[in-house]
Amino acid sequence: MEYAAAKSSMCRQCGRSFTPFAPKPILKLRTTEEAPAPETSSSIFGKLEDFWKRQTSSVVECFECKRKQQVSGAATSTICPSCSTHIDLRDYKITSGFSRSIRTRGNVHLSGKGDLASSSVECQSALIEGRLRGNLHCDTATINYSGKIPGRISARHIIVDRKADVHCFRRVHAEHIEIKGRMSGEIIAQSVTVHRKGSLEGDVAARSISVEKGGMFSGQLAIGQIGFAQGELLGKEKPTALRSTESSFQDAVARPLPAT
Ligand SMILES: [Zn+2]
Ligand SMILES: [Zn+2]
Repeated sequence: MEYAAAKSSMCRQCGRSFTPFAPKPILKLRTTEEAPAPETSSSIFGKLEDFWKRQTSSVVECFECKRKQQVSGAATSTICPSCSTHIDLRDYKITSGFSRSIRTRGNVHLSGKGDLASSSVECQSALIEGRLRGNLHCDTATINYSGKIPGRISARHIIVDRKADVHCFRRVHAEHIEIKGRMSGEIIAQSVTVHRKGSLEGDVAARSISVEKGGMFSGQLAIGQIGFAQGELLGKEKPTALRSTESSFQDAVARPLPAT
């Protein structure tokens, strides 16, 4: 019986209690100007959805020791059975200025009014519809935004959506990147696909690139000479480059945190 497991447990790392089978809330980072969340449990559909959430489970990997474990789809956090690291499983929706770090196996939605300046954001999937100035590392990043992206993106899979029109200031790292909209910027990837009606302007270093009929690519291309190890894909360029970004974003760092 699933409810038998719904008792809350104590986190061995931070002492906070957590409920492994609690319905998974979207963490509200700033609730003041937001409409109340729809009452998911009030309708039959909502109840059904909650029920299915509790039935589904997923496998998450520890941030530290990489050990995998199975968690309930409704859990909001867990503890690594090997090294006791606290693993956040919540989804985050950024609807205003935000500069604290995020490390979750859940998803991050940077909405149109959001302005994400955190020096470190690590998550499963990221949907970028707002301003990204910080560093994002995730499994799948979907960019649906028009404008400049001063932040750094590294992901296994990046999709520049059909309506996107972005200029990336920092080199973008990916295993695979799909350009369906417009993008300018430098890319290091295993493979790059420019779809029909997609447009990519900038230098690319990749093992392979394919430009579909109707797609456009202009820039320098270095094929098969990717000078990075697998580990480098997951972050960190030269510290000098890092320092210069930080100094130019001092205004973002100095801004007071939103009251929560
Ligand atoms: Zn904890
Ligand atoms: Zn671990």
